[in-house]
Amino acid sequence: PLVLGIETSCDETGVGIVRGTTLLSNTIASSMDEHARYGGVVPEVAARAHLEAMTPAITSALADAGVTLAEIDAIAVTSGPGLAGALMVGVGAAKALALAIEKPIYAVNHLVGHVGADVLRVPQNTVNGSSEVEDGEIQYPTIALLVSGGHTSLLLVRDLVSDVELLGETIDDAAGEAFDKVARLLGLPYPGGPEIDRAAVGGNPKAIRFPRGLSLPKDHDAHRYDFSFSGLKTAVARWVEKKQDAAEDVPLADVAASFREAVVDVLITKALAACAEYGVPRLLLGGGVVANARVREVAAARAGAAGVALRIPPLSLCTDNGAMIAALGAQLIMAGHAPSGLGFGADSTLPITDIQVG
Ligand code: ATP
Ligand code: MG
Ligand code: FE
Repeated sequence: PLVLGIETSCDETGVGIVRGTTLLSNTIASSMDEHARYGGVVPEVAARAHLEAMTPAITSALADAGVTLAEIDAIAVTSGPGLAGALMVGVGAAKALALAIEKPIYAVNHLVGHVGADVLRVPQNTVNGSSEVEDGEIQYPTIALLVSGGHTSLLLVRDLVSDVELLGETIDDAAGEAFDKVARLLGLPYPGGPEIDRAAVGGNPKAIRFPRGLSLPKDHDAHRYDFSFSGLKTAVARWVEKKQDAAEDVPLADVAASFREAVVDVLITKALAACAEYGVPRLLLGGGVVANARVREVAAARAGAAGVALRIPPLSLCTDNGAMIAALGAQLIMAGHAPSGLGFGADSTLPITDIQVG
């Protein structure tokens, strides 16, 4: 099926078009720059930006895919989780579009969409120079680690359209949020991820032993796969303050490298522990933090050593985008799921078990 997907859960207005598992287009307009001076995404600003970007994004996604609106078989849209006001813009646009072209609509879960990105066949697996991209079909079950500015979630995906279990998530800051906050306290601009990456060049990741939050749970602790990054952020702040109080120079590269190592260590350690516990030799990464060079490096090395097959979609499909939502919609259609009724809304706290809404 030819599916148009709309994504507006955070600061990216994403419109993507897929035919089955083939990616045809993926238009993304980000309001990230508008949030930069606030050091994080401002919900009201994001919602306004979605409203302005939506129509041009739909037009250009259709043009890039070389298809007309009349040819679209179904609309897919993110219903949640995410910022309520931002989600509502996408949901409203998607419903209007579905009504106008008299085609079915599929309201889907944003996080499951991140996993869905991996089913897409991209014309050339060279997008963003991502060399870890694996060819071939995704196999289930798989463990999925989603890390972005809003989420840090570890999932057990037995079946993309019918069986996704949340193993753990952050109890405070998301990993990307930690990058953004630590960058800020180090005097670096937003978004912090790429800035920390740059600052860490030449730094010693073992220079400072920052805490690994929730890293030593008991075997059957119900929260053994949860994450915590706010203590790490505070530890970095204290460490920097101490240096400044002593009128010593802050070794920026070492602090950045050591902080990044703490985040990466805890993320990959827990993901691979889940692979081992559930006997699943497959790990899929998604979310904007996967852009981090060290995340990819450590994941590749440790997964390799553990005999776990690692999948990382091209970066443009890891960050928020419409194509992953279209891909999940297409999977639902191909699995014979009925479309959503038009009564669904935006649900900012949509649980992972609700793969499709309405
Ligand atoms: P959501 O949480 O809904 O997916 P989001 O907009 O926060 O929304 P993304 O756009 O996928 O998510 O990712 C943005 C986040 O990724 C930011 O927090 C940013 O700092 C982080 N990020 C981007 N590049 C890097 C990098 N090289 N290293 C670490 N973090 C990065
Ligand atoms: Mg974003
Ligand atoms: Fe996301």
